[in-house]
Amino acid sequence: MKLIKQGYLAFVVGLTILWLIAEPIFANDYNFFELRHMVMNYTGIVGIGVMSLAMILAMRPKLFEVRLGGLDKSYRLHKWLGITGLVFSIIHYLWANVPKWMVDLGWLAKPERGMPPEETLAIFRFFDEQRGLAENIGEWAFYGAAILMVLALIKWFPYKYFFKTHRFIAIAYLLLVFHSIVLMDFAYWGEFIGPFMGVLMTAGVAGALFSLGCKIGVSHRVQAEINELEFHKNNTVLKVILSFKGRWPGHKAGQFAFLTFDSKEGPHPFTISSSWQKEEQLVFMIKGLGDYTRLLPEKLKVGDGVVVEGPYGQFTFQGKKENQIWVAGGIGITPFISRMDELADSPQTKRIDLFYSTGVFDEDFLESVKMAAELANIKLHLVTPNMDGRVDINMITRAVPEWKKADVWFCGPAQFGKSINNGFSQLGIDAHSFHQELFEMR
Ligand SMILES: Cc1cc2nc3c(=O)[nH]c(=O)nc-3n(C[C@H](O)[C@H](O)[C@H](O)COP(=O)(O)OP(=O)(O)OC[C@H]3O[C@@H](n4cnc5c(N)ncnc54)[C@H](O)[C@@H]3O)c2cc1C
Repeated sequence: MKLIKQGYLAFVVGLTILWLIAEPIFANDYNFFELRHMVMNYTGIVGIGVMSLAMILAMRPKLFEVRLGGLDKSYRLHKWLGITGLVFSIIHYLWANVPKWMVDLGWLAKPERGMPPEETLAIFRFFDEQRGLAENIGEWAFYGAAILMVLALIKWFPYKYFFKTHRFIAIAYLLLVFHSIVLMDFAYWGEFIGPFMGVLMTAGVAGALFSLGCKIGVSHRVQAEINELEFHKNNTVLKVILSFKGRWPGHKAGQFAFLTFDSKEGPHPFTISSSWQKEEQLVFMIKGLGDYTRLLPEKLKVGDGVVVEGPYGQFTFQGKKENQIWVAGGIGITPFISRMDELADSPQTKRIDLFYSTGVFDEDFLESVKMAAELANIKLHLVTPNMDGRVDINMITRAVPEWKKADVWFCGPAQFGKSINNGFSQLGIDAHSFHQELFEMR
C-alpha cells in the first residue's frame, strides 16, 4: 500500500511542479479573472493528468503491475486517481461556472476577451475558434464522467452493472481530452508541461480505445473446460477443477485469474489454488460471497466452457527474510493452498507458520488444508474466533517468538489485514516485509 501512496503522491506533486515551472504564480498580482484562469489551468491539468494515468492503468500494463505489487494494487491506484480526477473536475467546473452565474446575476462585470496575437500559430488560432464547442463538450463529458465515477464508488451498485457501465468513462475521457487540448493555455506547449501532457494524453487515449474495443486482457485469455466440481456445503466453497483447451503460460503460486463462466455476467477474479507443475489443469476454490458466486454450485456443470484470463498478481511469497508468517482469514486461505501445493513438491528450509482463522467448518475442507500443511512442512495454527479469540499481533508473536526474522503474508478481510499490519508496524517491522492481497478491486 505504501508504494501506491508514494506513486500517487509523486505523480500529483510532479504534475504540480511542472505546472508551476510554466506558471510562476508568485510573480504577478492577479485580478479575479486572471486568478480564475490560473486555477482552471491547474485543476484542468491535474484533472486530465490523473484521469490519463487511470486510463493507462486500466490497460493492465505489466510494468505497473510488477512495480506496484500486483494488479489489485494497480486497480487501487486507478481508483484513487479516479477520485482525484473527480474532485479536481468539480473544482474546475465550479471555477468555470460560478463566475459566469455571477456575471448573469449582474454581481460581476464580464471581462473583455482579447484576440490571439497575429503571430499565433495557425493550429492555436484554430483551437481558439473551437473554444465554445470545447467548453460545451467538456461540461457534458464532466456530467457523464461524474455520474459514472460516483456509481463506481457506491458499493451497493452491483458489480456486474458497474463493470458494464464503467467502460463508458472512456468516451467521457476522450471528450475531456479534446476539451483539454483546445483550452489548455497555448503557452504551456512551449514548456515541459505541454509535451508531458501530450504524451500522457496520447497514452490515455490508447487506453480508452483499448477499453472501448474490449481489448483489455484479450492476449491473456485461454479457453478451458470444467473437469470436476466439488461443493463443500458447510462453508459454501465450490472447488472447480479446469482443464485447458488452449495453452496456459503457467503461473506462480499465489497468483490469480479472471474466470468467465457466463459472458453475460463477465469475468470474476479468483486465486489459483493449485501450483503449476505442467499438468494442464487449475484448481479454484470459490466461496459464495455474493449474488453470483452463491448461485455457481447450481449453475456450473462438468464439461462447461470457461474463459481463463491471467495469470495476474504479485502475492508470490518472494520474501527476503529467513522465515515466513502467513495469516489467512476465511476464503483468503486460497493463495496459501497454492503455495503449500508447490512446497509439497519442492521443499525449502524456511520456517513457515500459517494462522488460519475460520468461523465456519467443513470437515473435508479443513482436512485438505491440514493435509496440505503437513505435506509442505508448515506449522498450521487453526483459529476459531468464537473459541480461541481473534488472530491478533499478540497471538502471532507469542506463537512465533522469532517473528522479527519473518516476512508476513496476509490474505483475508480488509479490516483484519489492517489490524495485523498496524500491529506489526507498531512493533517496528518495515513496510516491505508485510504483503497483502486485496480481495477487492473496486
Ligand atoms: C485478487 C482477487 C482474488 C480473489 N480470490 C478469490 C478466491 O480464491 N476465492 C473466492 O471465493 N473469492 C475470491 N475473490 C473474491 C471474488 O472475486 C468475489 O467474491 C466475487 O467476484 C464476488 O462476486 P459476486 O457477484 O458473487 O458478489 P457481489 O455481491 O457482486 O460482490 C461481492 C464483492 O465482490 C466484489 N466483486 C464482485 N464481482 C467482482 C468482479 N467481477 N471482479 C472483482 N471484484 C468483484 C465486489 O466489489 C463486492 O465487494 C478474489 C478477489 C480478488 C480481487
